[in-house]
Amino acid sequence: MLSGLVLAALLIAQLVFVVPGVVNRYDSTVDTLVSIERAKLQSAVRYTGVDEFDIPGTLLNNTLVGIRISDETGNLLLSKGETKQSLAATDTNVKTVTWSLLAANGSVRADVLLDISSVGWSTFLHALKLLGVALFSSIAGTLFALLGIARFYIHPLDLLVDALQTSRANGDGTIPEMVEFNDSEDLNPLAEEFNSLIDAQRTAARQVKVKQQYLEFAAHTDQLTLLPNRRKFEDGLKATVQEAARDNSKFAVFLVDLDNFKFFNDQYGHLVGDKMVAEVGNRLRTMMRDNDLVARLDGDEFVVIQKDVLDRDSAEEVAARLMSVATAPYEYRGFTLKAAVSVGISCFPHDVHAGQDEEMLGEEIVNNASVALQEAKSNGKNQYQLFNETMRSRLTARIRLEQDLKNALVEEQFEVFYQPKINIATREVTGAEALVRWNHPNRGYISPEEFIPVAEEAGMIIELGEWILRTACKQTNELHRMGYMGLNVAVNISAVQFTDGNLLPMVSKALRDTQLRPELLELEITESAVMHDPEEVIESLLELSQFGMRLAIDDFGTGYSSLAYLKRFPVDTLKIDRAFIIDISSDNDDVAIVEAVLGLGRHFNMKVVAEGIEDEEQLQFLKDQGCDLAQGFYISKPLELKAYISWLQSWPHGIQREASSNIVPLKALRKTGTS
Ligand code: C2E
Ligand code: CA
Ligand code: CA
Repeated sequence: MLSGLVLAALLIAQLVFVVPGVVNRYDSTVDTLVSIERAKLQSAVRYTGVDEFDIPGTLLNNTLVGIRISDETGNLLLSKGETKQSLAATDTNVKTVTWSLLAANGSVRADVLLDISSVGWSTFLHALKLLGVALFSSIAGTLFALLGIARFYIHPLDLLVDALQTSRANGDGTIPEMVEFNDSEDLNPLAEEFNSLIDAQRTAARQVKVKQQYLEFAAHTDQLTLLPNRRKFEDGLKATVQEAARDNSKFAVFLVDLDNFKFFNDQYGHLVGDKMVAEVGNRLRTMMRDNDLVARLDGDEFVVIQKDVLDRDSAEEVAARLMSVATAPYEYRGFTLKAAVSVGISCFPHDVHAGQDEEMLGEEIVNNASVALQEAKSNGKNQYQLFNETMRSRLTARIRLEQDLKNALVEEQFEVFYQPKINIATREVTGAEALVRWNHPNRGYISPEEFIPVAEEAGMIIELGEWILRTACKQTNELHRMGYMGLNVAVNISAVQFTDGNLLPMVSKALRDTQLRPELLELEITESAVMHDPEEVIESLLELSQFGMRLAIDDFGTGYSSLAYLKRFPVDTLKIDRAFIIDISSDNDDVAIVEAVLGLGRHFNMKVVAEGIEDEEQLQFLKDQGCDLAQGFYISKPLELKAYISWLQSWPHGIQREASSNIVPLKALRKTGTS
């Protein structure tokens, strides 16, 4: 199509010149012929007299076919060759011309017939020749032009289209190659435009890649230590288990946990705490080989996977080295800091059950290391422990306990026992502490000290705690209806319930449903739970106390209470831990602690309850010290509801009327700051 157009254009352009040329040539050839014939005739008649006027017959030829010569008066002097009439029949192309010629005796007039058909024919041939040349040159020109267009325009554009098509066909966001049009200046702006688009696309793609790499890195890296994080560790563990299972090789997992890190953080501040974690992480990594894995799992917990561990002895050696590296002192901002760590170790395949899938194997080995770590912690910290059979059976027992616990609530295996409390001065009963009991179908009664921590960890304490609270409120209300008016009940609240965020709605609903007056319910929260996050706890305690119920700090003296906080807690009661009462008659330190707690109670207008009273001597001592309330085996063991009722009936000193009424003004006093 394009070539046809070019060809036609070139042809037309040439014809524009050829046609007038041909016409001109025809005319001038005719003119030349005419003037040649005239010159020939003139020279023939020049010396011819009029009388015997003649000319040679040879003058007639193919062109000059007829001659009529007349004198000046019009007399015909000579006639030779064809006449108009004789020629009329033929269609020869004849031209009639009249010449005035000079003869010897003056001028004559010559009317001649010129056959110019030969000129037409030769001109036609000439025109044909010219056309041939024109056609040839047009075709050549067209080809040339096409080659040029192809080279300078079509080829570069093809490149461009190709580049775009490939990138689209790949469909994976591949960016086309840059194009280069070496010879096509005209197309260079297009190439530049295209290339700058590609360049922009490349830059964007690079940025996306860098961002992806960063996200990938961040998703797998702990920001503080720049060690792999838990996710990365899990991937690494999986790969290690696979490798070990395939190659029959061994490896060991070490869980490394800083001892008393919270205390350290509180004492030196979080910045120093962070620095310590980063330092320990760095040291662990430096100590291990490149193909081992060191990761940070949690705040102050690291994990190390060491490959190709020969045996358990060498795992212990590694643990000892990990400990000494982690605990070497270092200087930071003028402090000499020294971390203490505990390590739990578990070895593969020694410590796992064969025949599980790889994910389970990984989980088991980490769980085992964690059990060993707990063992190290409960054995006094700052040591390593290798997972062993005793731990395994404890672990199995614990797993079974957890499973049994799940059934226990549904199957109503729990009971609430009550341990009475008395006013030491009058010995009147003020109420009781509700203590949960689990009547296990096979094992009989299981101590709350054994199953409460399990329920806490398994998340069951929320449901169990609610059941205990509701039962205690309901049964206490029943006692009131039976005539034991004014008895209060103290219910233990686990730290997990306390931070659950649902405590107040849960408690208030229980009070509403059971119709127990709020001031007859006391919530016991352990000192360590209270001190875990004092600011947040103050908020919750305020809400609870505004609702009207009482609050007690349990096991007081065993945690690290800050007196500054104590002042701000809206607490009604301190319960001195049993541990300080046991040796009160022999241990002067315990006496000092009890006296101090009583002093604090007086100062902050809090009631003080002494727990674990086992004999008259202890009771007398506390009475002398001015302690308000007592609870313990000496008064009564925890009793199931019926036994509690019988006990109340037989208690010789009676029940304190509105046992709690004297607490209200005390708290009010402290709040108004008149203490
Ligand atoms: P706790 O709150 O300090 O409870 C007092 C514990 O001391 C009770 O043990 C009680 O039986 C025991 N005790 C009382 N008087 C004496 C005594 O004179 N001598 C001796 N040796 N022991 C005495 P129990 O009932 O086994 O409870 C142990 C712990 O379990 C409780 O300590 C409390 O922390 C937890 N617990 C018990 N019941 C509940 C509950 O309903 N909810 C929650 N969250 N925890 C509970
Ligand atoms: Ca308690
Ligand atoms: Ca206690």
